[in-house]
Amino acid sequence: MELAIKDLVDMLGSSKVLTKKRDLLVYGYDSTPFKGNPVGVVLPEATQEVSDVVKIAHKYGLPITPRGAGTSLSGGPIASVGGIVLALTRMDKVITIDIENNRAVVQPGITNQNLQKALEPFGFWFPPDPASLSVATIGGNVAENAGGPHCLKYGVTSNHVIALKIVLSNGEVLETGMYSEDASGYDLTGFIVGSEGTLGIVTEVTVRISRKPEATSTVLALFNSGWDAATTVSEVIRSGLNPSVLEMIEERMLKEVNEVFELGYPETVKALLIIEVDGRKEGLSFELDKIKEICHKNNVQVLQSAEQEEEREKLWLARRGGTSALGRLKPDSAENDVVVPRSKLPHMVDKIKEISQGNGVIMGAVIHAGDGNCHPQVPFDARLPAEQEAAEHALWEVFEAAVQLGGTISGEHGVGLEKIRGMNLVFSQDEMLLMRKLKLLFDPNEILNPDKIFPKIVIEKAREEML
Ligand SMILES: Cc1cc2nc3c(=O)[nH]c(=O)nc-3n(C[C@H](O)[C@H](O)[C@H](O)COP(=O)(O)OP(=O)(O)OC[C@H]3O[C@@H](n4cnc5c(N)ncnc54)[C@H](O)[C@@H]3O)c2cc1C
Repeated sequence: MELAIKDLVDMLGSSKVLTKKRDLLVYGYDSTPFKGNPVGVVLPEATQEVSDVVKIAHKYGLPITPRGAGTSLSGGPIASVGGIVLALTRMDKVITIDIENNRAVVQPGITNQNLQKALEPFGFWFPPDPASLSVATIGGNVAENAGGPHCLKYGVTSNHVIALKIVLSNGEVLETGMYSEDASGYDLTGFIVGSEGTLGIVTEVTVRISRKPEATSTVLALFNSGWDAATTVSEVIRSGLNPSVLEMIEERMLKEVNEVFELGYPETVKALLIIEVDGRKEGLSFELDKIKEICHKNNVQVLQSAEQEEEREKLWLARRGGTSALGRLKPDSAENDVVVPRSKLPHMVDKIKEISQGNGVIMGAVIHAGDGNCHPQVPFDARLPAEQEAAEHALWEVFEAAVQLGGTISGEHGVGLEKIRGMNLVFSQDEMLLMRKLKLLFDPNEILNPDKIFPKIVIEKAREEML
């Protein structure tokens, strides 16, 4: 290992290789309770440098964990034991913006927000908008196939990635996809998107960009039951309307949000929906009226509308602040991001309450309701093992409930370390073995984020069968 670090310093210079304990600590965590302990952190500034680093790691069998901003909610950027972190945050440039062809080419370390800012003067945007966009990187968005509120109408990251430059596990550089539309051959770009840094290191991303909608209107609807709010969501979609956003906060989280942000909602209110429509200005009021009709049919208690940016921001306050309002109750917090078919959302909302009571934990949720993607969050105190155990057990029951309702264990945050235990619930051994064998084709020495996504038993069996 010392020899590998020496080679890295010789190759990149000491300003791009961190080995001091205090520096390593900064790269030893993400947004989950998982912690890692990298033996070094490298900060390359170009594809060639990434390739040089990977060649050295390949030579010494050194595990590499790529990292963007470390906002992962699944433990993906946590270093493997004895491995290094390869942080891409210095590769943060826009390479080209091509309005005529609706394309932008960027380095992976640019934040989602800085890409949006670069597109703004042209009246364009990159629609996938994770709530973490002010810090999360495009490389991290690609590796996790990130979603966000506007993905209901516009599609998730994979729908907007056209081509990639990646460094393979032997240091070779591969370009996937085409600048033009392309349907020939296997979809290697699609295979890399969502692969959580286990197949290659993304060093350049070509994305599809879109003209921003001319106008947006927002409605905030408060209901006396989660069931009514979730039923409204299903009915809005079933009616053929095409809202750009359908976000929900359930009872427990809403209570905290109401208190922290002094929103003054009546105590009888148990669920909040934010609904947005966008497009040509003239068409919006027709859609909004229909949506309000459906809200009334489902016993809405309060309806507020906003068209100006400032008013809309006020309505979004509750949605954006939900996680932190609930998180403030305890020093630690765990969550997952299960998905259920949209029609099963009312049942899932009830399940969240039931599981919370059954395990004696606080559990609240923000929900990308239009996609059936729930984010149940459990604040706990990691210094108290019984509390941590109860939190983990409650979140395990959430996995089970989602799968029983016909859903799955992750809608957008990836598997990382956090959801490995749930993989058996949704995939057969054969499916997982096939996936792991595909990983081995890309990474025969298993150095790229080697311990993520798959249960140990699958990792070992795939290795045995591929030898
Ligand atoms: C407050 C908060 C809100 C969030 N909201 C959302 C949301 O609305 N939607 C959503 O989808 N997620 C959300 N997330 C989760 C997280 O922000 C996303 O998963 C994001 O895409 C991660 O980007 P990152 O740059 O932080 O990547 P990291 O956390 O650093 O890494 C994530 C994964 O990507 C891999 N990786 C990073 N860069 C590369 C690269 N260049 N090449 C190959 N692999 C790479 C890492 O190895 C790791 O497996 C939220 C997180 C927080 C803390």
